[in-house]
Amino acid sequence: MSYNVLECMVCGFIYDEGKGLPKEGIPAGTRWVDVPENWECPDCGVGKSDFEMVAISRIAVAVNEQVIDSVKPEPVIETVVEKPPESDWNRKPVVIIGTGLSGYNLAREFRKQDQKTPLIMVTTDDGRLYSKPMMSVAFSKGKQPDQLASATAADMADELQADIRIFNKVTEIYSDRQLLRVDGEIIEYGKLVLATGAKFVESSISGDGLSRVYNINDLLDYTRFRTAIVGRKKVLIIGAGLIGSEYANDLVKSGYSIEVVEPMSTVLGTLLPQEASLAVQESLEKAGVKYNFGSVVEKIDKAGGGIEATLANGKIIEADIVISAIGVRADLTLANVANLKTNQGILTDRSLQTSAENIYALGDCAEVDGNLLFYVSPLMESARVLGKVLSGQQAQVNYGVMPIMIKTTLCPVVVVPPPKYSDGEWLVKVDGCNVHARFITSEGKQLGFALTGDAVGEKDVLSSKTQHIME
Ligand SMILES: Cc1cc2nc3c(=O)[nH]c(=O)nc-3n(C[C@H](O)[C@H](O)[C@H](O)COP(=O)(O)OP(=O)(O)OC[C@H]3O[C@@H](n4cnc5c(N)ncnc54)[C@H](O)[C@@H]3O)c2cc1C
Repeated sequence: MSYNVLECMVCGFIYDEGKGLPKEGIPAGTRWVDVPENWECPDCGVGKSDFEMVAISRIAVAVNEQVIDSVKPEPVIETVVEKPPESDWNRKPVVIIGTGLSGYNLAREFRKQDQKTPLIMVTTDDGRLYSKPMMSVAFSKGKQPDQLASATAADMADELQADIRIFNKVTEIYSDRQLLRVDGEIIEYGKLVLATGAKFVESSISGDGLSRVYNINDLLDYTRFRTAIVGRKKVLIIGAGLIGSEYANDLVKSGYSIEVVEPMSTVLGTLLPQEASLAVQESLEKAGVKYNFGSVVEKIDKAGGGIEATLANGKIIEADIVISAIGVRADLTLANVANLKTNQGILTDRSLQTSAENIYALGDCAEVDGNLLFYVSPLMESARVLGKVLSGQQAQVNYGVMPIMIKTTLCPVVVVPPPKYSDGEWLVKVDGCNVHARFITSEGKQLGFALTGDAVGEKDVLSSKTQHIME
């Protein structure tokens, strides 16, 4: 009998059909297709229907249960798209700008509804389908950058029956004529989708050592970083938010010496109540991470083969290489070119329609009915809805409770941050590094929660009591 081993593309969680998940009531030998539809990845919370696990090996179990066969990674694909007759290709194409998780998941959802309309995808990178969230856990999971990708642009073009243009940049959108410019070529679209993601906030650091500072926003950036870190020992991380903390966790676990600079007084300060931040900070410090709170890096100069960073408080930190993780913001470049309405993201309604006819947006670039969320769960729901909308159906997103799993594995965190400027208070219980916190309004409504350590097991119970993002 042969079993599949599947890996969650968001966090790298492994599901082995042969072993099942007995603790979660899924017996050994349960096929992926038989795992309940409401199952959620225990590490990152994306649902089975939200995300396609990727088959990483097929294991033939002999009588003595030895592994005797394994095969190359292959995506689990539900939909087989047949190439339509030539005449169907006369329709104006749907054009998706971006081949990140938003672009590709939308394309898959669209193809489930419509196998005929021509589909063009454009990306400034190499168009591989990869797990961006895995970049900050790849070292400790023993993954090389290439192993985070599960398909090439050519594989995806084949699967989606799409024309995928890699290393191409859209520079102009003429919404009144439904045209766009891609590296000198003009393309006509029937419907256009911006899935252009978020950009890292540019720092205002001066000095001659900036070439040793890495802003890691995609797999190509990550590959450059992994090449540069070979033979290095000490990493300076600027920022102790979600991404900075995950890289600190990953690199310290992998034997690197880590020093972090953060202007706030604690880690994950915009997401967690103080007690939970402290639990994460202490766990990372115990593993060797050194923190410098309440200051910023002003200057980075070359020093030998590495750098010397000067902080606003005058402190000097030496390191071999630097990761800048000071935050992300929605990429509004093309939205501004097309005169779309924007706030912090591209404004859309719940059908993902922007202020211009036949132009839609989803993912890290989109502010959907007032919600700008830089996570996978909302983009997956958006992809499902927009796949239907693009094929002429009526559909709307309805975000429920979307817990964020922070992959600081030395002290795992699950958080549902309360909406900004909410009136209420955190009710916190602390037991060592296990923190259980609920954000409650004066009327007794639960608007958010934060759990660390062993308390993360309470996620489902607290989620069921928390107000939905969209009512
Ligand atoms: C290190 C890290 C860890 C993370 N961990 C988690 C996690 O654990 N859980 C979670 O839910 N989320 C996590 N996230 C967030 C999650 O990865 C993002 O929300 C998601 O990947 C965004 O996908 P996207 O497709 O919207 O954007 P992107 O992946 O940024 O894709 C943008 C695409 O647009 C293209 N593009 C942009 N401009 C142009 C142009 N002018 N012309 C042509 N193409 C263009 C780019 O080439 C790219 O293909 C993490 C993010 C990072 C960086």
